[in-house]
Amino acid sequence: MRVFTASLATETNTFSPVPTDRTSFESAFYAPPGRHPDTPTLCSAVIPVLRRRAASDPDLEVVEGTAAWAEPGGLLRLDVYEELRDEILAQLRAAMPVEAVVLGLHGAMVARGLEDCEGDLLARVREIVGPGVVVAAELDPHSHLTEKRVRAADILAAFLEFPHTDFAERAEHVVDLALAAARGEIRPVMSVFDCRMIDIFPTSREPMRGFVDRIRALQGRGRVLSISLIHGFMAADVPELGTRVLVVTDDAREEGDALAERLGREVFAMRGTTRMPVITVEEAVAAVRDRPPGGGPVVLADVWDNPGGGNAGDNTVLLRALMEAGIDRLGAALIWDPQAAALAHAAGEGVVLEMRIGGKTHASSGPPIDGRFEIRALADPGWQSFAGSRVTLGRCAVLRLAGTEIDILVGSNRTQVFEPDIFTDLGVDPHRKRALLVKSTNHFHAGFRPIAAEILYVGVEGIYPNRSDPSRYGRLARPIWPFVEDPFAEDQARSATAPPPA
Ligand SMILES: [Zn+2]
Repeated sequence: MRVFTASLATETNTFSPVPTDRTSFESAFYAPPGRHPDTPTLCSAVIPVLRRRAASDPDLEVVEGTAAWAEPGGLLRLDVYEELRDEILAQLRAAMPVEAVVLGLHGAMVARGLEDCEGDLLARVREIVGPGVVVAAELDPHSHLTEKRVRAADILAAFLEFPHTDFAERAEHVVDLALAAARGEIRPVMSVFDCRMIDIFPTSREPMRGFVDRIRALQGRGRVLSISLIHGFMAADVPELGTRVLVVTDDAREEGDALAERLGREVFAMRGTTRMPVITVEEAVAAVRDRPPGGGPVVLADVWDNPGGGNAGDNTVLLRALMEAGIDRLGAALIWDPQAAALAHAAGEGVVLEMRIGGKTHASSGPPIDGRFEIRALADPGWQSFAGSRVTLGRCAVLRLAGTEIDILVGSNRTQVFEPDIFTDLGVDPHRKRALLVKSTNHFHAGFRPIAAEILYVGVEGIYPNRSDPSRYGRLARPIWPFVEDPFAEDQARSATAPPPA
């Protein structure tokens, strides 16, 4: 059996001031055919999984295409999307005939002038391979499950966990289903229920922890092959924004439809109760100041200035507030500031330099932090781990405000914070700090929970659309909660007042 695999992924925050281009892919992750490392990355894990399967199965031949990932950011240049897409499509054409295509996607890629990039890619893949070939893809749940994608693919499945600690496991799952379908052992049918809402669904807490555990238990029972909750991605103004339940059955459409609706209505009933409690900057500062020493650092997540959600990662508001409150044993990561990183590298380790850090991208980033900083450590590139994968920080530096133990990590590659090795690899001992400021919404949680005295989610108002403000969603094509109280009732009202058919 011959299988083609490739990966093209980013998460587009259509409100972000950081545009996405070819360099955004090349500086984050770009692997031409055959050059994907053996370690998986978030959206390309299907490639090393298939490579390993082929190594132990003489009947399986895997043709690898390009894998590319850009750190979440603003709108992607259309020509760059088309260039990467056409690169992969040409590789697929050259690989034909194949029995299956397995893609690693994210599902929230938006180019200027093309709102549904993954729908476009999947439809073109289908055009090339025809109706008889299995088309499967792994998705991030922070994506848009458009009708076009569901029509073009046979199997779609998203990570179940947020933090996405199960991306490699879900890649195995998608590959299992794709190979079984290509062998004719199953006939996958997808059922989708539109929950008509958008929210945040961390699985590190209830009620989502229990919900995801139940989904896991239902998979593989009877004819249910796979269940995914597509969370949706609220930092995108696109027509099909929203939460959806996706069920893949073995040729059991009615059962799949009914299960998707039942689970989807459960999710709708949980609306407004799933997200983590977010506190203000003032509350965060007080929590750190008033906490007796010992027991480890308080971990403060700067939830909205999260490069993982497409934001800049150079907001200084929370950092400044902590510094002004006299929190003098503080670690902060990662402030996106390529210029400060370059100046630190030019000066060299041990040098004390007058510097200006952060606060550059957007008015809401806050003013930069000025001071005399000792250059404590340098790396090019620096790295951090994420659940078995490696994430580059680019050229980076640890800058210590002179006379304090305030260590600020600056880097040239925008990335959210995943694991404490972002600090320890550069010689910063997180246990010595009273507080650690991390740019991340929830992905840091699995890595930092073991060392944290307490984890607090802090909301700094910026450009991330974290409030239910419908005026920011001009492209949205149907009513969803929280912009309307009950979108399902609204539907009924609409159909009740609709004129009779002519
Ligand atoms: Zn995600």
